[in-house]
Amino acid sequence: MPFFYARIHLMIQWHEGLSLGVKTLDDDHKQLLNIINRLSIAIRDDNTQQIIDEIFEDLQKYVIEHFRREEALLKKCGCKNIKEHIVQHRKFSKKIPELKAKLTDTKSSANAQEVSYFLTDWLFNHIIEEDIPTIGLFEQCGYTEQKKSKKRSFISTITKKTIENFSFTKRIFLSAIIPLLGMLLFGTIILFNNFTKYTNMKKTSTITQIVSSVDRVVHDMQIERGLSSGHITCIDGKFKETLREQRLNLDISAKKFLEKINTANIKRISVIQPHIKTFQTEFSSLKELRDKIDTKSITQTQAIDSYTKIIKNILNITPKIAFLNYDREISSNIATLSSLQHLKESLGQQRAYAIMLIEKNGGSIDEYLHFAKLDGSQKAFLETFKQSATALQKDEYNLIKASSIAKRVDEYKMSIYLRKFDSLDSQVWFDSITELINEVKNFEDTLLSKINSLVDASIDDSIVNLLLWLSFATIILIVTLSILYTFRTSTKYQIHQLTDAMRDLAKGGRSLRLSPININRDELAFMYDAYETTRQKLLKGDIYTQLYLNKKELELQTHQKQNVELQEMAYIDPLTGAINRRKFDELSEAELERSNRYKSELSFLMLDIDHFKSINDTYGHDIGDEVLKHFSSVCLKMARSLDIVARVGGEEFVVMLRETDTMGAFIFAERFRQKISNSELNIDGKTIKYTLSIGITSKQAGDKDVKSILQRADKALYEAKNSGRNCSVIYEKN
Ligand code: GH3
Ligand code: MG
Ligand code: MG
Repeated sequence: MPFFYARIHLMIQWHEGLSLGVKTLDDDHKQLLNIINRLSIAIRDDNTQQIIDEIFEDLQKYVIEHFRREEALLKKCGCKNIKEHIVQHRKFSKKIPELKAKLTDTKSSANAQEVSYFLTDWLFNHIIEEDIPTIGLFEQCGYTEQKKSKKRSFISTITKKTIENFSFTKRIFLSAIIPLLGMLLFGTIILFNNFTKYTNMKKTSTITQIVSSVDRVVHDMQIERGLSSGHITCIDGKFKETLREQRLNLDISAKKFLEKINTANIKRISVIQPHIKTFQTEFSSLKELRDKIDTKSITQTQAIDSYTKIIKNILNITPKIAFLNYDREISSNIATLSSLQHLKESLGQQRAYAIMLIEKNGGSIDEYLHFAKLDGSQKAFLETFKQSATALQKDEYNLIKASSIAKRVDEYKMSIYLRKFDSLDSQVWFDSITELINEVKNFEDTLLSKINSLVDASIDDSIVNLLLWLSFATIILIVTLSILYTFRTSTKYQIHQLTDAMRDLAKGGRSLRLSPININRDELAFMYDAYETTRQKLLKGDIYTQLYLNKKELELQTHQKQNVELQEMAYIDPLTGAINRRKFDELSEAELERSNRYKSELSFLMLDIDHFKSINDTYGHDIGDEVLKHFSSVCLKMARSLDIVARVGGEEFVVMLRETDTMGAFIFAERFRQKISNSELNIDGKTIKYTLSIGITSKQAGDKDVKSILQRADKALYEAKNSGRNCSVIYEKN
C-alpha cells in the first residue's frame, strides 16, 4: 500500500521521490499537501465547517498559480503533449466548486474524508502520472537545480553525447567493428602491396621476354651487318652465301620479335608502345637496304650505318624498361645485360668496319676514327658492366677476355691500327670476332635465364604471400564477425530478459526470478541483482499488504457480524425467538399502511396459554419457560414467511397474517390450537399438556392504527376465555 494512503487522520509527509527538481513546482505541490493535511486535521477535530472557506481560498490560489507556472514551463521546454496537461488542469479546476459544495451542503465527516481522499489521489496521480515523466524535459531545458550547478567534465560530455547518439547495441557493434575495419584496412594495404609486387613480377617476366627477343634479333642483325659489309667490299663474293643464310635467320628472329612486342601484355607497357610502329617500318625498310647491298649501289659505311641505326633503336628498349620498378637483384641483372648488349653491339660494328678496312687495305681517317671510337665505347660499356655485375659475372667476363679468341681479335685490331694488311684475312677476322661475339652472347643467355628464374621465383613467392594473407584475413574476419555476433546476441538476450522482467514487475508480476547461475559478476549481473532485490522487496510488500488487507477484511466482517447480532438482539425475544412488542408495533403499523394503500387483507390473532399460572405453579418457572419455547417454535413453524409472530406479553402472543381474511385467519388459528392441544411435552420424565385460547380479528375500513385492531382481538380472546378456553373466537361487534 503506498505510503500516502496512510490513515486519513495522520499527516501525509512530503517524499523527496516526488521532487521534479524544479523548486517552484515542488513548492506548489507541497502547498497542496499542506491543504490536504489541514483538512485531515479538521476532520479529526470535527471542525471542517470552520475552515472550509480558508481551505478553498488556498486551493483556488494553488490551482491558478501552479497551473500557470507549470504550463508556462512546459511551453518553454517545447513539451509535445502540453495539451493533455492543460486538459487535466482544467478538469481539476472545474471540480473545485463541486468539492466545496459537497463539504458545505452536508456536514457529514464521511463527505469531508471523501474530499480529502480525492485531493490526495489527485495530487499524487498528478505528480506521478503527469509531472514526473516530464523531468527529462526540464533537465534538457536546464530548469532543474542540480544540473545547473554541476559543471560537466570533458569525458562526461563525450559520454553523454555518445549515449545520445549511439544505442547500446550499436555501441557494442561499433566497438568490435572499428578495430575490425582497422585490421581490414591494414590487411588490404598488405594485400595491395603483395598484389603490386605480383603484377610487377608479371611485368618483369614480360620484360625479360622482350629483352631476350631483343637480344636475338640484334644478334642476327649484327651478323648480317658484318656480312653485308664484307659482301660490299669483297669482289670474289665469298660472303654471299653466308649472307643469304643470315638474312633468313634475321627474318625469322625479326618476325618473332615483332610477334612478341605485338602481344597484348607488352603492348600495354607504355615505354614500348611508341616504338612498335617504328620497328615495323624499319624491318620493312630492310628489304630496300638489302637490294642496295646486293647491287652494291651503297657504300660500305652507309650500309653499316643503316644497320647500326636499326640496332641502336632496338637496343634502346632495354635501358628504358630498366626504369620500371623491379626487384633489386633483377634490375641490376637487367642493367648488366644491357651493358653486355651494347658491348656486343660495339663489337658487331667493329666486325663490319674491320672487314671494310681489311678488304680495302686501309681506309679514310674518318673510318679509322670511327673504328677507334668503337674501342672507346667498348671500354665505357665495360665500366657500366662492372658497376652492376656481380664478382662472379666479372670473373666470367674476364675469362672471355683472357680467351685465345679474344687475343686473336685484339691482334687483328692491332694489325689494322698498324695498317699491316698483308697478313690479315677478312674471313678469318669475321669468324674470330663472331666467335667472340658469340661468347658474349652466351654470357648474355646465362644472364637472361638467371633473370627468368629470379622472376619466376619472385612470382611464386608473391602468389604464396598473397594467398597466405588472403586466407589469414578471411579467417580473422570470420572469427571476429562470429565473436561479434555471439556477443551482440547474448547481450541483447540479457537486456531483453531484464526488460521483460521489469515490465512484468511493473504490471504486478512477482514470480519471474532471474537466475544468476550463468552470469558472471559483470555490470549486467549487477542489474540482475538489482532486479531480484526489487522483486523480492515488492513481493514482500505485496504479501504484507495482502495480510494487512485480509486482517482488515476479517476485522470488518467480525464487526459487521457483531452489528447484525446486536441489531437482532434489539428486536428478538431471547427466550422464544419471536419478535418483541416494539418491533411488532413498527412492523404492523407499516403493514397496515401498506395494506390500506393496496387494499389488501390483513388479519391478527391474539393468543394466550390457558392457566399458565398453574403450569408455573405445578412444574416450576423453568418448565413454564420450556412451554413458552415449545409454543413459540410450533407457531413459528406453522406460520408462513409472510406472517409475523410476536411476543407481546408474558405468555401472550400476536400473529399478524398478511394477505389473509378472517376465514383464513380462523383456519390457521384452529389448526395451530389443535396442534398445541394434541402435543405432549416430555420434560424431566414429566408429561405436560397445555391448551390456548385465540381471539381473531381482521382489518376493517377506517382502522387508523394497529392498537384499535388489537383491542378487538383482545376482546375476542376474552370471549374465548369466557367460552371455556381452548378455542378460537372471531371478534364480532355486539
Ligand atoms: P388464564 O387461562 O385466564 O389466562 O389463566 P392464567 O393462569 O394463564 O392467567 P394469566 O394469563 O393472568 O397468568 C399469566 C402468568 O404467566 C403470570 C406469570 O407468572 C406467568 N408468566 C409471565 N411471564 C412468564 C415467563 O416468562 N415465564 C414463566 N414461566 N411464567 C410467566
Ligand atoms: Mg393465560
Ligand atoms: Mg395471560
